Amino acid sequence: MIEKTQALWLDGVLTGWDDGTTHLMTHTLHYGFGVFEGIRAYQQADGGTALFRLEEHIERLFASASAAFLEVPFDRATLLGACKEVVRANGLRDAYLRPLVFVSEPNIIFAHWLNRVRVAVIAFPWVGYSDRSQQEGTNAKFSPYVRPKAHAAFYKAKMCGHYALSVVAYSEAIRTGFKQAIFLDEDGMVCETTGENLFMVKEQVVVTPPSSRSILMGLTRDAVMTLARELGYRVEERDISREECLSADEIFTTGTASELLPVRMLEGRPVGTGQLGPVTAVVQQAFSAAARGRAARYKHWLATL
Ligand code: PMP
Repeated sequence: MIEKTQALWLDGVLTGWDDGTTHLMTHTLHYGFGVFEGIRAYQQADGGTALFRLEEHIERLFASASAAFLEVPFDRATLLGACKEVVRANGLRDAYLRPLVFVSEPNIIFAHWLNRVRVAVIAFPWVGYSDRSQQEGTNAKFSPYVRPKAHAAFYKAKMCGHYALSVVAYSEAIRTGFKQAIFLDEDGMVCETTGENLFMVKEQVVVTPPSSRSILMGLTRDAVMTLARELGYRVEERDISREECLSADEIFTTGTASELLPVRMLEGRPVGTGQLGPVTAVVQQAFSAAARGRAARYKHWLATL
């Protein structure tokens, strides 16, 4: 459950949580034509709070908006400041932030430029998913819903509308007794889960699908590739077929909200030993150290308040 906070940031000002409302004629509500981000604030080893890879998230928000021909009515510095402000104003430590760029009302014809573009930054306490422990991991299936390969470039944008397919695929997975769905594309190649990137470990090599597939270029994915390389693992960005994925020693997913999550069961079969894998465990620890400010080498990933 989301715990509501005192204040959110809307169109340049801090406002009360309950005032964060919009009209039913809001364009984005009808067509999913908007873009967003998900950012984590972590309490640091020294007691402070820092936002993980804040600049890169704001950069991706602008790139997503640009892919959608949406003009963000604020500059990067203002949105960076808004993210920090909303965490500070609510006295948050471990938190999740949701910047959202949306098209307002009153027109619901496709000519979105007739309406004002609005920006919200919402933040709330977050220490991770209660139903997905880092040890226990998840039980996944390949989704019967295909990620269109033709839209590989479009999936680089974090657009609201993309997530309709994610919600349908996730719901189908739950309905059929699984906890997560992995999207394949028309070539039968692995893309990602409904909201996370995917990694496979095979004979000590860490492999993740390349940008040529319909995946979001996750910032956790990027951090994990860096950390795994520094830990001495070979890391490859290359295609993974459904069959290869089924023969992996370890599989884990990466995302801002769930960090590194082992996939311990796939299609009803154990992945490797079916336990938290050794490579996954080591990279999980390295990630946690970087996010919590315990690794001097990765301080540049942390934006302090
Ligand atoms: N893929 C999708 C579809 C996502 O929604 C997310 C979450 N933003 C990710 C991958 C992981 O990206 P990140 O590590 O930047 O959160």
